[in-house]
Amino acid sequence: MDQLILTEPGERVSGQLRKLEIRLPASGTADYRLRASEQHLALNAKLGQRIRLHHTGAIHCVHCGRATRKSFGQGYCYPCFSTLAQCDLCLVRPETCHYFKGTCREPEWGERHCFRPHLVYLANASGLKVGITRGTNTPTRWLDQGAIQALPILEVDTRQQSGLVETLFKSRVSDRTNWRAMLKGEVEPLDLMAERDRLLGALAPDLAALRERFGEGAIRPIDDARPLAIDYPVLEWPRKIVSFNFDKTPLVEGTLMGLKGQYLILDRGVINLRKFAGYRIDVDAA
Ligand SMILES: [Zn+2]
Repeated sequence: MDQLILTEPGERVSGQLRKLEIRLPASGTADYRLRASEQHLALNAKLGQRIRLHHTGAIHCVHCGRATRKSFGQGYCYPCFSTLAQCDLCLVRPETCHYFKGTCREPEWGERHCFRPHLVYLANASGLKVGITRGTNTPTRWLDQGAIQALPILEVDTRQQSGLVETLFKSRVSDRTNWRAMLKGEVEPLDLMAERDRLLGALAPDLAALRERFGEGAIRPIDDARPLAIDYPVLEWPRKIVSFNFDKTPLVEGTLMGLKGQYLILDRGVINLRKFAGYRIDVDAA
């Protein structure tokens, strides 16, 4: 467990940036913490105030900690990026799982992470999308994407199966988020249960074929699920999206206007902090 250090006004946190920690309390409004090494900064309380993030120039791999000149795959050094199973292409394209060919980069890691129940879900981050996640990773996955609604629709036994199911859905619905649209706050709510029924109806023959391949109980509808609604702490949406990049601008400064997905929304631009995991930063908040 990370040590929790609550900051007083005017205090500074320094260290290796991690992706934003986002929780969903019963209020339904996402609660954000910036993490730098062992230090945390509660961000919701900083809305409307000045914040200054300075990248020192150093980057350390989020897995092994070694210094790296460049970050690969959101925070890894090149040796980790090219050898860890969690950095393999099959993680983002699970239908290409190659475990059964005996070529998994780390078979034990694969057994622990990929041969576990996964969910296929519908979400609304910038319109309807389909996605997959490990059963234990909700609602984090949806918060990270900036989804305002999410509904798990199917449970499957393995990550590969979730990829095969997602591939079927991709013929009819996007698997991407348009981050600019997501950050403009113009996302209309959808009837996810109606979308689910429509898609499951249209894909019934294809899903039946997958069940024939993996066994009748392998791909299970989640009938009792209800859509989750998520609010984000935002004072004002950006009219025009300008994005900051620590590689080009080590100093990012402004008034914190909102938090959505893995983005900080400042009055002068937005920054995707997940992209800069592993970067050493100093953060000063008013
Ligand atoms: Zn590494």
